[in-house]
Amino acid sequence: MDSLDLSLPAPELTVVLSDVESVSGSETALADLVESALRDVPHLSVDRDGDTVVARTSLGRAERVVVAGHIDTVPLGDNLPCRVEHGRIHGCGTTDMKSGVAVALRLAAHLPAPNRDVTYVFYDNEEVEAEKNGLGRVARNSPDWLAGDFAVLMEPTNATVEGGCQGTLRADVVLRGHRSHSARSWMGDNAVHAAGEVLRRLASYEAEQVDIDGLVYREGLNAVGISGGVAGNVIPDECVVTVNYRFAPSKSEDEAAAVVRQVLDGFDVQVSDSAPGALPGLSHPAAAAFVAMVGREPQPKFGWTDVARFSALGVPAVNYGPGDPSVAHQREEYCDIAPILECEQRMTAWLG
Ligand SMILES: [Zn+2]
Repeated sequence: MDSLDLSLPAPELTVVLSDVESVSGSETALADLVESALRDVPHLSVDRDGDTVVARTSLGRAERVVVAGHIDTVPLGDNLPCRVEHGRIHGCGTTDMKSGVAVALRLAAHLPAPNRDVTYVFYDNEEVEAEKNGLGRVARNSPDWLAGDFAVLMEPTNATVEGGCQGTLRADVVLRGHRSHSARSWMGDNAVHAAGEVLRRLASYEAEQVDIDGLVYREGLNAVGISGGVAGNVIPDECVVTVNYRFAPSKSEDEAAAVVRQVLDGFDVQVSDSAPGALPGLSHPAAAAFVAMVGREPQPKFGWTDVARFSALGVPAVNYGPGDPSVAHQREEYCDIAPILECEQRMTAWLG
């Protein structure tokens, strides 16, 4: 294919975009098509960083919103080219998230005078290690490209608004004892037994439910792993309990670490990695108008998503897209046509 036809209706455009394979790391062909199609749109200025394409209107509006989507997919599962049957498009990437990308491209091409300035971001390498993520790279290289009052990430959400996302922190609780022969166990100090108190505190911990902008983020502090033991005849001198804390976006990473240390007071808690959450920002006028336009009760996002990258830049962000997240990454991945049309219509109404 040598060009993208942005006059195609969004479901047809979803098929065309999906049929251009763009497994993470191989997005160049699709990024080229997206870039050249957007360069043909007179009301947009276009920038590119690697395989990320950014297009924007510059009408001097009071607010700027960002509409973003990743153009890569997970590896194929014998599921391309797309097949359309009974109002449903089957194929790799249809739900996650070429359907959202199709809607964003349609908006970019067909809204010459939106009521808010809009920045459209089509980025690479979302489905792989975080350090390759195109949005993260642009945030480092050219953070001004992502500036805005509010962002919509068009990941699959069944066309409901999922606000913000929770943060995540992992820590190792290291228990030390003294090694001895198990036949003379009184000479040792059993580190595995010491894990009992750690597990008891975790099991009895009542996680918080934090209300932010009317969304209730349900936290969780759990043991997700345990290791220890030397041999069948040795009292173990070390045991490590790995803990994962999913925390509301109103907490910083430091505050989250303090909670874990407080619950496990007296133990050696070593934080191994963490990522902050993202505030939903639903009280911002642009966000409130967006939620009203969508017309469905917004939901909190529990998992970590790229909205956190916007939040780190001071841009509140939500997920909103036509796909069904439960079929993402599956061989049987599909996207229904009706929510694609609904999303386009609602976004068009929002941007006036
Ligand atoms: Zn995705």
